[in-house]
Amino acid sequence: MFQAFLIKYGEIGVKGKNRYVFEDALVARMKQVLYPVDGTFKITKEQGRIYVEAEGAFDYEETVAALQRVFGIVGICPVVLREDQGFETLSQDVMEYMHQMYEGATKTFKVHTRRANKRYPMDSMEVNAELGGRILQEFPGLKVDVHKPEIVLHIELRNHICIYSEVIPGPGGMPLGTNGRSMLLLSGGIDSPVAGYMVAKRGVYIDATYFHAPPYTSERAKEKVVDLAKKIARYTGPIRLHVINFTDIQMYIYDQCPHDELTIIMRRYMMRIAQQIAEETGCLALITGESIGQVASQTVPSLAATNDVCTLPVFRPLIAFDKEDIVAIAKKIDTYETSILPYEDCCTTFVAKHPVTKPQVERIRRSEKLLSEKIEEMVKEALDTREVIEIRKNRQ
Ligand code: ATP
Ligand code: MG
Repeated sequence: MFQAFLIKYGEIGVKGKNRYVFEDALVARMKQVLYPVDGTFKITKEQGRIYVEAEGAFDYEETVAALQRVFGIVGICPVVLREDQGFETLSQDVMEYMHQMYEGATKTFKVHTRRANKRYPMDSMEVNAELGGRILQEFPGLKVDVHKPEIVLHIELRNHICIYSEVIPGPGGMPLGTNGRSMLLLSGGIDSPVAGYMVAKRGVYIDATYFHAPPYTSERAKEKVVDLAKKIARYTGPIRLHVINFTDIQMYIYDQCPHDELTIIMRRYMMRIAQQIAEETGCLALITGESIGQVASQTVPSLAATNDVCTLPVFRPLIAFDKEDIVAIAKKIDTYETSILPYEDCCTTFVAKHPVTKPQVERIRRSEKLLSEKIEEMVKEALDTREVIEIRKNRQ
């Protein structure tokens, strides 16, 4: 029955003059996700509404699933679109719609009409009353409830007629590309893919940096990170993944610095390197999956000591989340099963038995002095020899 969808978008509706920028970004992203879907689609903007119309046969499920990955969309309404051919034709279309959708149902409903076409010969109250009456006659199981109806039958009288009652939830958020680009520190764990997803959901394009420590971390561990990047790219659009060989830096820190400060110092170097790539590539902020107290390196003093080296803003969207809430999002965006695959992480290879949980920034800075200029060369070498992988997949 459906050849079209009405797209509801929330926050972007209230952005005044910027609204066009937001709508255009939304439409661009919709085109991108619909491109690999079976079917040919036309997307139109009209009077603060966006419609997706399928030309000919299309895969309904796949279309809805694709649109559900477009940030900025709050609702996807399968809609019957018709030319305005007078009230009697509208009434027939509505009856046909109701038979298809609610045959035999026992539910409450109301008709909600919007009359955008001010020349329509009936006003919206009249249309509500007339259609409501006809539905009551034809469907004995349906009753009117104007306060808390189970079904709201929307009738929009525009240049054309729009009939819908179902709103499939979208992800919400802001359209991609409306808030610049940021650099995600992406590991193979549960948290960082979720953190990237959350920031992208606010309209931010994502690139990623992964610290690899061969031979302590295997090629499989890297593949896992690539797989995670592909999973989130279904939402975030293409990701440029920078793979940094971190082995020499880690070994050098391990040899020179107090072992209980190892993790913090390593993390400071990760931030420095990610920040350098971010600055080179036009990313305006860093993103991590850190959450207060989750591990020794994420106590508040540890976070402060890590943050000490950052000049760019660091977004930590999970900072106050409990693990189970993070896991719930990871499951929803389908990264969880990949994240729990048991490959080694570069941080676990060199962890101290008793890492500091209350590092003092001054002490950490002093310890880093033990590293001499050699560390700068190693950082440069790691940056120069990084591998760059273009993650384009937005389909499974
Ligand atoms: P995650 O589940 O995201 O791996 P985690 O609980 O294992 O997080 P840590 O290992 O302390 O926590 O890492 C904290 C954050 O630092 C991660 O969320 C990620 O953003 C970044 N990070 C850690 N290890 C790496 C790595 N090997 N490459 C890139 N980023 C990393
Ligand atoms: Mg980790």
